[in-house]
Amino acid sequence: MEVILKNLTKKFPSRDKKNRNEVTAVDHFTFEIPDGRLIGLLGPSGCGKSTVLNLISGLLKPTEGSIFFGEDDVTDLPPENRGIGLVFQNYALYPHLTVRQNILFPLENLKGKDRLSKEEMQKKVDEAARLVQIDGLMDRRPRELSGGQQQRVAIARALVKRPKVLLLDEPLSNLDARLRIQTREEIRRIQRETKITTIFVTHDQEEAMSISDLIIVMKDGVVQQIGKPQEVYDSPANLFVAKFLGTPPINVFDGRIRDGRLWIGGDAVLDLKGVMDQEVYVGIRPEGFVLNDKGALGCTLRGVEVMGRDISVVSVNDAAAGPAVRSIVGAEDRLTQEARHKPEGSPIRFDVLPRKVFLFDRRTEEKIDYEVRQRRNGD
Ligand code: ADP
Ligand code: MG
Repeated sequence: MEVILKNLTKKFPSRDKKNRNEVTAVDHFTFEIPDGRLIGLLGPSGCGKSTVLNLISGLLKPTEGSIFFGEDDVTDLPPENRGIGLVFQNYALYPHLTVRQNILFPLENLKGKDRLSKEEMQKKVDEAARLVQIDGLMDRRPRELSGGQQQRVAIARALVKRPKVLLLDEPLSNLDARLRIQTREEIRRIQRETKITTIFVTHDQEEAMSISDLIIVMKDGVVQQIGKPQEVYDSPANLFVAKFLGTPPINVFDGRIRDGRLWIGGDAVLDLKGVMDQEVYVGIRPEGFVLNDKGALGCTLRGVEVMGRDISVVSVNDAAAGPAVRSIVGAEDRLTQEARHKPEGSPIRFDVLPRKVFLFDRRTEEKIDYEVRQRRNGD
């Protein structure tokens, strides 16, 4: 089922007694969520993600705007008539009911013509349990299950009525790191098998990037960018998005453009076409640095960190916004090996890969497009 949001806005009265201003939790959302896809709704805590989900589910009424499921305007429908499945962070299972009874619960509440026979209900419960692979645990109570298993039960309960739209609000936040990765793969698999349009809310960019067909990045109630995870990563619309995606995070520098050259401090790091002289923010992804003794950008070495298969050179630069510049470099590289033996405080130089370098307007923080001009010999 396609989900279409038109101008969707939600304002809350202020909780702060001194400050009477309203909070605009969701600010004019207009976009279409395509049918059968898994959408990651991503942003920092408090940016309005849960509010969007609760508007789609019908638990909240919008201040303005409308919501369509396919052709149907559902804006005024109560949650139980929208055909949605909901999963929250805290599994919210009934503690006194078994797994089977928990999953059965939504079916038992069906009224009138929707009511199923006992056999049909059991069949659906078994199907949902098999789908999330908890069919061996049907007679346990929630407290006899691990967090991951409880969350599977919650997902089965949300799926048992075959919802048109599945809404997941930070479903993995209570799980430990390994289980989180495993369960997110499960959610991906379940979504692929059922093809139910799914909206997955998280503040964890890696989580959203790893399982979503599309991500929606939001900040302060406003959509910042919508796209395939890799496209958003490779072409962030603004500084906020660039900083929000990627681990380690993008490195930001104060830079300036003069006569077709991009300068960071006293170093001309790229030759550009099509950009006016101006002050800019320069974002360079950690994988955009290449060690080179004659490289364009000079930094001062702080250390070399080995984290599993990644090696990062940590250095400082006066024009960097953060306390350190973090680059991911080739483990087998001769220069990486040399850097590991250099004392702290040594000068170190990098070339930068243009497709990993983004420029942002100092005032609007929007991305500035540019083309790279090849340097001629002796230029
Ligand atoms: P997220 O899920 O991204 O962390 P929320 O949607 O929960 O964010 O909240 C968005 C903003 O709306 C926050 O500033 C929050 O304080 C405010 N907010 C959420 N629910 C209410 C409410 N019921 N009353 C007042 N303010 C609210
Ligand atoms: Mg939330």
